[in-house]
Amino acid sequence: MSDDMDRTVGVIGLGRMGLGMARALSERGFVVRGFDLSENQRRAAEEAGIPTLSGMADVFPDASVVILSLPTAQDVADVVTSQLPNVGRGAGKRTIVVDTTTSEPDVSRQLAVALESAGHGFLDAPVSGGPAGASAGALTMMIGGNESDVALARPVLDALATTILHVGPSGAGNIAKLINNLLAAAHMVTTGESLRLAAAAGLDPAAALRVINSASGRSMISEVHFPKWIMSERFDSGFSMALMRKDVRLASRLAAHTGAELPLSKCVSDLWLAGSQHLADTDDFTRMGAFSPSGHRPGEEA
Ligand code: NAD
Repeated sequence: MSDDMDRTVGVIGLGRMGLGMARALSERGFVVRGFDLSENQRRAAEEAGIPTLSGMADVFPDASVVILSLPTAQDVADVVTSQLPNVGRGAGKRTIVVDTTTSEPDVSRQLAVALESAGHGFLDAPVSGGPAGASAGALTMMIGGNESDVALARPVLDALATTILHVGPSGAGNIAKLINNLLAAAHMVTTGESLRLAAAAGLDPAAALRVINSASGRSMISEVHFPKWIMSERFDSGFSMALMRKDVRLASRLAAHTGAELPLSKCVSDLWLAGSQHLADTDDFTRMGAFSPSGHRPGEEA
């Protein structure tokens, strides 16, 4: 990227992930222009040194790359469809929309076709690593889309992620993200259940977790999430129950759509969705690791 215009990056959705990504880009020398529907988030961005624009339409004309970090596929479709005439209007060259939202493969494919017919590119590029990874530019990114668009967006992708996996054509990034999060949802439940069994049988759960993390039962959920957010009873990872339920629902829908039979994953999905009796959408998703069938949380009387 050579001139200022080439280094201009738009970020739409300045929430827990998007604001961190905007910061990481700004710290690495990109000219960042942000937008969020929420006035509070726009103010938080300004306070963090990220200039925001008063309307979304102002983000698209000059940016060579626009990052989206939105709650749902429907939000992504609404933004891209409504802004299609503005994309790259000022820059006069191919603009790449990099959608880091955990979204739906079919929606990604449709938007890639719509942008391609207007001479622009779309990458589904969902991420893993949470708000801390976003701020540090240390995300893992799984990408679906054209090789040439990945190459065009590469300097921006490198500023956001330390691991970039281009896994296939449009939609492939979201398939990869949904199967990963279904597995993380399962690890959250199975690790919580194994510690509950350890406690019931008289073994200190902290000792049990040390064994799991030194043996074959470990996962990132047991190595990172349990010590940091569950055993510590902090429950502030920054990923909400609402968003994890969305991912579990989308993975279940993908299974139904493809006809893949996933008996254990179906039980896991039922548990996450049934957890709504005890856990609110605004609760942190790590609460699910402490979820018991009677709804008790650590520190609460049984
Ligand atoms: P968030 O709710 O904190 O942020 C989303 C932001 O988008 C909000 O500030 C909201 O006001 C804004 N928004 C909604 N619709 C908009 C629109 N039309 N135009 C502009 N702004 C709009 O969510 P988050 O935790 O930052 O997650 C964002 C995405 O990243 C989700 O798809 C989520 O599944 C995914 N994700 C989150 C995490 C995590 O740990 N939080 C990790 C990986 C992936």
